[in-house]
Amino acid sequence: MSVSIAEKAEKYDLRVPRYTSYPTSPHFLETETDADYRQWLSNLDPKTGVSLYIHVPFCDSMCSFCGCYTKIVKRYDPVAEYLDYVHKEIDLLAAALPERMTAKHVHWGGGSPTMLKAEDWKSIIDKIKSLFNVDEKSELAVELDPRTATEEYVKAIAEAGINRASIGVQDFHEEVQVAINRVQPFETTKNVVEWLKKYGITSINFDLLYGLPFQTTERVLDMVDKAVSLDPKRFAVFGYAHVPWMKSHMKLIPEEALPNAMERWEQMDAAAQRLEEHGFVKVGLDHYARPDDEMTIAMNNKSLHRNFQGYTVDNNPVMLPLGASSIGQTPEGYVANVQPLRDYKRMIDAGTLPIGRTRGLTDEDILRRAVIEQIMCNMQVDLPAMCKEHGVDEDFFANEEERLKPMVEDEICTLENGVLTLPEEGRPLMRMVAATFDTYLQQGQKKHSRAV
Ligand code: SF4
Repeated sequence: MSVSIAEKAEKYDLRVPRYTSYPTSPHFLETETDADYRQWLSNLDPKTGVSLYIHVPFCDSMCSFCGCYTKIVKRYDPVAEYLDYVHKEIDLLAAALPERMTAKHVHWGGGSPTMLKAEDWKSIIDKIKSLFNVDEKSELAVELDPRTATEEYVKAIAEAGINRASIGVQDFHEEVQVAINRVQPFETTKNVVEWLKKYGITSINFDLLYGLPFQTTERVLDMVDKAVSLDPKRFAVFGYAHVPWMKSHMKLIPEEALPNAMERWEQMDAAAQRLEEHGFVKVGLDHYARPDDEMTIAMNNKSLHRNFQGYTVDNNPVMLPLGASSIGQTPEGYVANVQPLRDYKRMIDAGTLPIGRTRGLTDEDILRRAVIEQIMCNMQVDLPAMCKEHGVDEDFFANEEERLKPMVEDEICTLENGVLTLPEEGRPLMRMVAATFDTYLQQGQKKHSRAV
């Protein structure tokens, strides 16, 4: 008797990473010096350009589902002081580069970048423009919290140059919103979308969640229909990651109201099907875009990538972190800025790039990262061809192929002549297939979220 995907999800209820990097962040190593990172920066090819990620670690209230590094503040002073430090960090970073480079992408995340006053947007963007080339092709993207954005605010960020907005929606149902301490009526989101479009920011993404307390499949479908009615260009649909042993505020979530693994699967599947009925194409694990969207086109061309922002058409191997706890990468390794804030400020005051952890890449890391990225982006990887390209024996992954056999038997993936393929039904479990190639992962550890 064939096993349903829901039963497979239950059977393979492992905690595995989301693979926005490899090695993954828990395997970055603490460092006391910025010397390696400075070397990696000085080795960059100035022609490649850079992406910048700026973390704003402040919010004015705590959503109980939040997995981000953020601090609740009721006054603007700490935010203003922090931005002074970000200005200084931009100076330090630009001085460490081989020459003035082009910022192709600048992404503000959080926390809540909506905490910034309008004039501070302009000030930071002006700072970046003074030290990096920023042209009309550069993407300036922000994660926007509709609960605190006003029309004047949206107008100001558009005038400052922001051209993409990612909106946290989560769910529209009031009972769900109350349970996650994020009350955001549909009208609030609708207003912000209308203002964004009015001021020319038409590249709009929505983040939706399933697996939240009191969510049901019916409510998830209603959420999708309402969200589509606002006509965003892309969706990211994530499973809520309940990790109260890591984030103590998640203890406020009523665990008895959380959907079980089977219900999570049904919610995810229902959201996927409904989005596809609305004309969206599934991209990778959890993104959805229109057929003519550059993300869909990149997936079809096998040029889709995955970085700390999730799926991206950005093929730039250089993403430089700014702000406390921000993460980035260079061709030679990953880097994570320090947290808490006092350490971040102390290091900048000392004239040091405020990094706390790095992870230099070995040749084997680079090979395994390429395999994992192809699984996550293309749902297929030719293992012998990949081994040849990276100069190792074609049977380098013999152990991994052996470990994949139960998943092949369960029709989660196929493996023929070393070509690993995920059929449509296996796609939701791609993190677990990718984890087979993660040599650092301790099976069974509880550090990560559910794969579905
Ligand atoms: S606004 Fe975003 S970052 Fe802030 S607490 Fe809520 S989910 Fe977390």
